[in-house]
Amino acid sequence: MKKLVYLATPSNIEGNKEMKDTLGGKGANLQEMLSLQLRVPPAVTLATETCNMYYEAGRTITPELREEFLGCFTVVESDMDLKFGDIENPLLVSVRSGAKFSMPGMMDTILNVGMNDAIVETVAARTNNARFAWDCYRRLIQMYGNVVHEMKTEEGSPFEAILEEIKQTLCITDDTQLSVENLQELVSLYKTCFRRFTGEDFPQDPYAQLFNCIEAVYRSWNGERAILYRTMESIPHNIGTAVNVQAMVFGNMGDTSMTGVGFTRNSNTGENIFFGEYLTNAQGEDVVAGTRTPIPIQQLKNEMPEVYEELLTTGKKLEDHYSDMMDVEFTVQQTILWWLQCRVGKRTGFAAMQIAIDLVREGKITIEEALLRINAEDHLNQVLKPIFDTEEKKKAKAEKRFVVKALNGSPGAATGQVVFFSDDAVEQKKQGNSVVLLRHDTNPDDFKGMVAAEAVVSGKGGATCHALVVARGKGLIAAAGIETLRIDYKNRTATIGTIVIKEGDWISVDGTSGEIFLGKIKTMPSEIQQVLVTKTMKPEESTTYQNFAIIMEWAKERKTLQVKANADNASEASIALAFGAEGIGLYRTEHTIADDASISSYRKAWLCGDKKMRILYLNEMLEYQTKNLAETLEEMDGMPVLMRTVDSPIHEFFPEHHDEKTLSMMAKLAEELGVSVDEVQARVKSLMPVNSNSAMRGCRITIVYPEILVMQITASAQAVHRCIEKGLNPNLGIMIPNAFDAREIVWHRHQVETIIAKYEQDHGVTIPYHFAAMLENVAFGRTLPETVAKAKCKIFSVGSNDYTSDVLFMSREDANSFIPTYLELGILKADPFVEIHPTVDTMLNDSIGKLMSEDEEVEGGVCGEHGGNPPSIIAFHKMGMKSISCSGFRIPIAILGAAQAAILHPKVK
Ligand code: PEP
Ligand code: MG
Repeated sequence: MKKLVYLATPSNIEGNKEMKDTLGGKGANLQEMLSLQLRVPPAVTLATETCNMYYEAGRTITPELREEFLGCFTVVESDMDLKFGDIENPLLVSVRSGAKFSMPGMMDTILNVGMNDAIVETVAARTNNARFAWDCYRRLIQMYGNVVHEMKTEEGSPFEAILEEIKQTLCITDDTQLSVENLQELVSLYKTCFRRFTGEDFPQDPYAQLFNCIEAVYRSWNGERAILYRTMESIPHNIGTAVNVQAMVFGNMGDTSMTGVGFTRNSNTGENIFFGEYLTNAQGEDVVAGTRTPIPIQQLKNEMPEVYEELLTTGKKLEDHYSDMMDVEFTVQQTILWWLQCRVGKRTGFAAMQIAIDLVREGKITIEEALLRINAEDHLNQVLKPIFDTEEKKKAKAEKRFVVKALNGSPGAATGQVVFFSDDAVEQKKQGNSVVLLRHDTNPDDFKGMVAAEAVVSGKGGATCHALVVARGKGLIAAAGIETLRIDYKNRTATIGTIVIKEGDWISVDGTSGEIFLGKIKTMPSEIQQVLVTKTMKPEESTTYQNFAIIMEWAKERKTLQVKANADNASEASIALAFGAEGIGLYRTEHTIADDASISSYRKAWLCGDKKMRILYLNEMLEYQTKNLAETLEEMDGMPVLMRTVDSPIHEFFPEHHDEKTLSMMAKLAEELGVSVDEVQARVKSLMPVNSNSAMRGCRITIVYPEILVMQITASAQAVHRCIEKGLNPNLGIMIPNAFDAREIVWHRHQVETIIAKYEQDHGVTIPYHFAAMLENVAFGRTLPETVAKAKCKIFSVGSNDYTSDVLFMSREDANSFIPTYLELGILKADPFVEIHPTVDTMLNDSIGKLMSEDEEVEGGVCGEHGGNPPSIIAFHKMGMKSISCSGFRIPIAILGAAQAAILHPKVK
């Protein structure tokens, strides 16, 4: 029979940190901590597989599993010398979730399970601490109600409301000030609340409590926030969570007891200082649930110096063992330190770079490992995000718009209109509005709101609460710990001190400093951009830049893919160069028909209906096309620039809405073409495609209207010529989009050669260029060998946006109407227009991948959006592509992604 239940006690170590698939992260690390001889309360782990078994059995724990669990559980009992449910000698346990991938706070935990009306008296008598016993009992009812019966309202937990009311009546601010009598009253009120909500009495049978809690943890795998988190993090929905049943140790046993959370380095900045918080006389959920604001760990040095020392020394031991910054949860029960959990800690992009570099310097990891520690997407995006303009901030302070300096939860600058509920944040985001979510406490339940909002601000919660841990890992902007924040959820109003903030008011949140301002504040580029692009900052002034430069240098040395940019003019090219681009992989010429004069000429060329006139109108565009390309070639001097002939269908050159501006544009066109406005409108209508994705676009346009190709290729030749005359080294590629058949490329090759030859003859010059085609549909993939042979074309760039549309039969413009649902249901693992879909990957491997492996001269590249997406970059690297191309601002992400691909898959040619 397959083993489904694992023991974790000092004398029964049944796993290690590598067994996350089976034991979940928490369970696997419990085993590892025991191997390192850390003081860990004994536990039993129900393997991740049991979660699926629970659902398959019709949401119930099978008798066999129950039996296997109970068999192991007796070992925990004897280890503790206590008995679960025993009136004389009772064991209390915690029931904790723990999936393979860390999902902080996204699933549930219940503490003090096994307490009831009789056992509370025993615990009080045995510990001689009635206050402690009743505190545990009220906490159990609260957590059990919240988790097993989901007793939550939009305003939060009804239990928390009762607690607040009692505290207000007693004029106390801290839970620790509640007397035994107060706690007994609380238990009675909680029980009434429980009965009112569930229609049942709070269960007195400890085993009923225990199994109901285990089942609730399985159910929390499919809770709304867990699903959303997995969807965002591309964690599979079918792997389930393990459940850890662990003997309780108590941080609420008086003033020599405490509970805390920490990171072995600062997870915000990466500074090598233990970064943590604790609460005396409290239990773990108080710290991580964000309902109380804990104390910085450094204060523990004065209160319990030995414990503090042990915490730091053991923290370092863990860090050395894992060679990474660790996130730990611990409890001190009457001066004895216990370790409840450890895992590799989530961190901001700033911290990720700092820690990776420091660990290399400390000789703990290699450069390759360091590069793999940085999330190319989330971490780099975070450090490249705009920040608040320093002058604007000063101005806001002078205008008395400064509200408060909160705890800097997660860095970044955000401005938005205040909302108080997560659902409102989601709704507003759908409507395209920017909002800041203001909450009393940042609860993991607010995850959907946090993701939808520009920033989240909360009154309570310390730097280590789950919500902020998640925010930092995901690069969401957050500030917390504003003790003076009061929210009247009913009237949708908040006060911070004397300042009143209403729903819809604009506020600005600086997650880097924790400052909050009324109104809007303009942003300025990130420090990295200020050094590289605007040159308004010196490298030595920015640690972030310096770290970024080290990471980029390491990455460039290791990557094998060339990283190019999608850029359409010299200024975009210059930004791309500053970020490290090695060429332009896609120069979309339709973007160069954007100035008023060119667009008007282009429209007339389409509407005039006469070839001679069309040539005239197209010639009006020649100079702009030439100049723009020449400037770009000059900026990229020597580096490849792949110019694509026109692709967009004509409707993209006419406005969608028929407002006054459009009407006057039509009238002007009518006048210039010498026809009536009605006639112009009729002609425009006749040109509009029914299905734009597969309409008259790409090389079809230049085949039907060769004069457009003549104009574009002449402009290209002229641009190269101008650069040569300046003594430059233009490196032009001419690329044909959207073919489905080799014959279209053969036709274009011939035309391009003829036009260039004529130019060369007319001007007595040689125009160097490469010839390339885009691979944007499956049909063309099948004619690649014929294209190589007949069109002498050996350079192919995958237009992965259109290629994905074709393979999956999804219009890229409309896909958003169903993709979110597909992601939630797990039909799609990731948005296929962001991350290459496995079927698209296979099809590309079968066409261009195969061709590249058979013919060394064939060069493949990718210039669709996927070229800047790290998981897709790995696929392209494995396929044997030579280059990837993406927008200038994503170049650093692509460089790191390419290095990670090369490190993970070194054998690819
Ligand atoms: C593509 O289809 O991936 C591509 C790069 O072309 P466009 O996005 O311009 O259609
Ligand atoms: Mg395309």
